[in-house]
Amino acid sequence: MIRFDNYLFVLLLNVVPIFIYYYYFHKLKIKNKSIFTSIYCSVIVILSMTFPLEIAPGHIYDLRTIPWVVAFFYGGFPAGLITTIVMAIYRYMIGYNEGLMVTFIIVLLTLPILYFAIKKFNQAKSHIKKLLIICLTLLFPISIDLIATSFFTNKITLIFVVYLYLSHIVTLIISIYLIESLSYQERKKEHMQQTERIRLIGEMAASVAHEIRNPLTVVKGYTHLLKESSNITSKQQEMLSLMSSELVRAENIINDYLSLARTNEGTKEQINLGKLLKKVEELMSPYALLNNVKIYNQVQTPCIIEAGQDEILQLFINMIKNAIEAIEYTGEVVISEKITENYIRINITDNGKGMSEEELNRLGTPFYSTKTQGTGIGTMVCFNIIHHLNGKIKIKSKVKKGTTCSVYLPIVSK
Ligand code: ADP
Ligand code: MG
Repeated sequence: MIRFDNYLFVLLLNVVPIFIYYYYFHKLKIKNKSIFTSIYCSVIVILSMTFPLEIAPGHIYDLRTIPWVVAFFYGGFPAGLITTIVMAIYRYMIGYNEGLMVTFIIVLLTLPILYFAIKKFNQAKSHIKKLLIICLTLLFPISIDLIATSFFTNKITLIFVVYLYLSHIVTLIISIYLIESLSYQERKKEHMQQTERIRLIGEMAASVAHEIRNPLTVVKGYTHLLKESSNITSKQQEMLSLMSSELVRAENIINDYLSLARTNEGTKEQINLGKLLKKVEELMSPYALLNNVKIYNQVQTPCIIEAGQDEILQLFINMIKNAIEAIEYTGEVVISEKITENYIRINITDNGKGMSEEELNRLGTPFYSTKTQGTGIGTMVCFNIIHHLNGKIKIKSKVKKGTTCSVYLPIVSK
């Protein structure tokens, strides 16, 4: 007589740790996610082995292979190995018999397959393909288990085999579905928060800039009047001219911010990125010199992108300014390019103080700055511009070693 009533309980044991992990730990900015993956998978392995399925007297098996395989796919090979060790130790504690031998055989034969399957899994784009890879991989250890068990017992029946495969596949599909959908939701939430942050800073910048523009207009007007008056020396005249031009510059900057805040409605034009970066280099050289920094611009591309002249200028100025400011005594900033099929990647590398993982995560948060004179808006504006240009940014940084910011922008023509 086949009983299958404790399957639901076993299924519950398989999914509860996944829920707990994704609801409580996944959103923490954990540095090494693979360790946590191996922990929750190990917990499921232990639970599965403690509460096996007994579908008929003597017909006992458990679902430990599922969390074991999941650990490899979602945590990487090291996480899988940790889970393997936990599984082996726990199996040893249960008792030394042929089952232990079978476990070792399964592990040894499946590891090479897992190694190659993980690579395929990481390249897979669709959820279905991922699921298929895991399912096919899982069939292998179950089948070895079945063959090995048939050596030690002759009680294997067709119904047992059907249940064995069915329960594994169903549980695996439910687990993978949960993992994929929970992590997708988490990613979506993060993306929405980021968009909200961008919107918020846009609004804030707009109101601040707007408020500053009015007093600036007054100062500009009076400066102009003073300049016109007859009883001032030529030296004073010169100073007032300088003041005027600086005020115009300040006004321009504010207008730039305002145009950015207006979610970049400005017109896009075709821009030669090589020429533009030359201009940025020229603009930034005095500032670099002042900070004992050398700028090496290796970009020679005549590659054309579509963007607003001001915004693209602002993007690179902000990034290079940050790179220069990250260098404490003396150092260099290298600007380089790489063209792929649809994108151009501009790397801005500095050998400055770098950022820790935590600092990297805070980058782009409004008013986050570690500098006494900092505004904490620069990177925010950069992210906003890149987002507007349908580009991407990746930042790699090592404390005391330096930072590389890679900006990817879609190419119009090469
Ligand atoms: P600000 O430059 O006004 O401080 P940003 O938004 O431009 O504001 O930058 C925020 C913070 O990010 C900086 O204060 C700095 O700590 C960090 N940062 C940005 N770029 C780099 C870099 N290339 N190297 C090291 N730290 C950086
Ligand atoms: Mg800055």
